[in-house]
Amino acid sequence: MAQMRFSALADNLNRTVPDFKIPHNRSEHFAAQVFNDERMMKYLTKDAHKSVREAIHSGSKIDRKIADQVAESMKTWALSMGATHYTHWFQPLTGATAEKHDAFMDLLADGRAIESFGGDQLVQQEPDASSFPSGGIRNTFEARGYTAWDPTSPAFIYGNTLCIPTVFVSYTGEALDNKTPLLRALHAVDEAATAVANYFDKNVQKVHATLGWEQEYFLIDKSLAHARPDILLSGKTMIGQLAAKGQQLDDHYFGTIPIRAFSYMKDLEAECTQLGIPVKTRHNEVAPNQFELAPVFEEANLAVDHNLLLMDVMEKIADRHHLRVLFHEKPFDGINGSGKHNNWSLATDRGVNLLSPGSTPMKNLQFLTFFVNTIMAVDSYEELLRASIASASNDHRLGANEAPPAIMSIFIGSQLSKVLDELEGVSKGKLSPEEKTELKLNVVGKIPEILLDNTDRNRTSPFAFTGNKFEFRAVGSRANCAKPMTVLNTIVAKQLTDFKKEVDELIDTKKLKKDEAVFNVLREYIKASKRIRFDGDGYSEAWEKEASKRKLSNNKNTPQALDVLTSKKTLSLFEEVGVMSKIEITARQEVEYETYILQTQIEGRVLNELVFSHILPVAFRYQQTLSDGILALKQVYGKDSDNAFESQLSILDQLNSHLNGARQKTEAMVQARREANLLEDPKEKAAAYCQKVKPFFEEIRFHCDRLERLVEDKDWPLVKYRELLFFK
Ligand code: ADP
Ligand code: MG
Repeated sequence: MAQMRFSALADNLNRTVPDFKIPHNRSEHFAAQVFNDERMMKYLTKDAHKSVREAIHSGSKIDRKIADQVAESMKTWALSMGATHYTHWFQPLTGATAEKHDAFMDLLADGRAIESFGGDQLVQQEPDASSFPSGGIRNTFEARGYTAWDPTSPAFIYGNTLCIPTVFVSYTGEALDNKTPLLRALHAVDEAATAVANYFDKNVQKVHATLGWEQEYFLIDKSLAHARPDILLSGKTMIGQLAAKGQQLDDHYFGTIPIRAFSYMKDLEAECTQLGIPVKTRHNEVAPNQFELAPVFEEANLAVDHNLLLMDVMEKIADRHHLRVLFHEKPFDGINGSGKHNNWSLATDRGVNLLSPGSTPMKNLQFLTFFVNTIMAVDSYEELLRASIASASNDHRLGANEAPPAIMSIFIGSQLSKVLDELEGVSKGKLSPEEKTELKLNVVGKIPEILLDNTDRNRTSPFAFTGNKFEFRAVGSRANCAKPMTVLNTIVAKQLTDFKKEVDELIDTKKLKKDEAVFNVLREYIKASKRIRFDGDGYSEAWEKEASKRKLSNNKNTPQALDVLTSKKTLSLFEEVGVMSKIEITARQEVEYETYILQTQIEGRVLNELVFSHILPVAFRYQQTLSDGILALKQVYGKDSDNAFESQLSILDQLNSHLNGARQKTEAMVQARREANLLEDPKEKAAAYCQKVKPFFEEIRFHCDRLERLVEDKDWPLVKYRELLFFK
């Protein structure tokens, strides 16, 4: 077995990196494989182009005839690019993307073959979707699911396939995917934010949410990854001793990118460029072999699609480089995990970032309005926001002293805290002219366009204001950003709608001026949402205590966190904002429980296999070697043998103790798993997996890691951390 480890390592060392032709001028190739506006203009008739543009900007329906035209042009373009197939590309609730390829080629009645693609195929498809999780929706309604074209995200060619981004809904209209609720939330936030932005600029017609994600990941050698059942099956190491050198020296962060990784990144970026994913920055992360890639931010729906596409591209390109990408939030114990910061803001169709302070008091009042409303929204729905990033794999990372805690809080920095404190002191009702001038000039007017705190960030905060956007840092590296983005935009939409109502009422009934009314409502919000603001060390125990005093939720595991999805408050929120019905949200919760159970189950099974088929047999052999040696020494030394085998005996004792520990704990874990499997209710079953099964993982790991230390290096059956984590 050790043989395998060494041959894989040798293979790794001998590997030569293929030489790819990377275009130097990336901008020339940008979006070459995308049917974007530029291409639509070239290929579509004027009417068709106008109709698609309207559908993108105002959500209007595309007429069937026009759809035929669009399909025909898309086909012409795709064939000219060498595409042979097309697919409806969608986001089932599993978290990844799905596709079913159909050839353009079709047969006519007389047997001749043609390339065909009509409006019907573009607009709607019925994938055989029975195997996608739906939380029982399709059973309940006895209906099939279908996919429908989302014109707001342009079609693109990936490999030889024309990919058409779509939503996936049941025949009765329930969302079966992650995109549909996101689109609804984005629509809601557009309406609500536009109405509020109109207080400050009458000409704003549309507000879109922007998202800039930062994708963290690990790269490891493919052969080595494949030699580990745990990485292969669960995406992480279930056991493994920390290497003598980890990340203590902090020498990896912003260090030189290892050659193999660099070659991978160059290839990856070239592909992203063609696909229109605007990747911008790349660097090493804190842990060895951990990296990050970030694009220029985009409209949120497009950004979500691009992130999902990117993850797919990353895996494919890694394969070409004999590498394996790990998206798991915690692939290695004792080393930082991976997240995916979601930078979020709101932008108007007039190019104004609503979360960016400006140069005039009026612009700053607008900024403060959106800023305070976001804080208020997060305060009201902090538990739901936590639920939006819950997953079995992210549980390993949250609250593990390297990533944000499971408690949601907002960091805004000292400058803005001061501004909010001053606004809180504003008197109620009408303001005297002096008061107004003072407020505008000395408080609102003093907010600098560039905030100092922007450079002095609090890295321990899960939700931080970073100068002109909020950064949601608790999102896991593996996650589909659609989930947190749906929740964030929904709660902000709800909050802005409430805000507008309150301001309008003050204007109507109390005869306040608009800015006075805005000040009045903001003041109340600042008071009401104070508990969510926290600028201190989010990793500290003191904060946990303080947060509990503030009655902030602290759901440390996924089953607990998911509870809130079906609370009265959540259901009425989603219903009111028009994002999800009770049926849809209940189905989603069920799928989340199931996913949690499955992932934990897989981890348990892998661990069982590792212990019984890999580790124990090797440990037994060592046990035998030691005891044979002791017996032999006894014979050689006879009566005076006391000290002759002291070392062997000591190691044998330790070996026995950890052997027994590993075996007993694994047996107990398997038993707990069997008991959990008997439970029918997904919520109870998930809780049992979390509380009764999972705690054994750490204990089993402890014994296995000790055994790794005791057993001779060449006999250890698994690739070690030091071998996995350091390549040049
Ligand atoms: P870091 O957090 O690594 O220090 P930056 O502050 O430069 O880096 O930006 C991080 C991410 O924020 C980038 O991916 C960028 O696209 C995104 N970003 C910047 N401005 C906005 C915005 N207005 N809306 C959404 N994302 C944004
Ligand atoms: Mg960041």
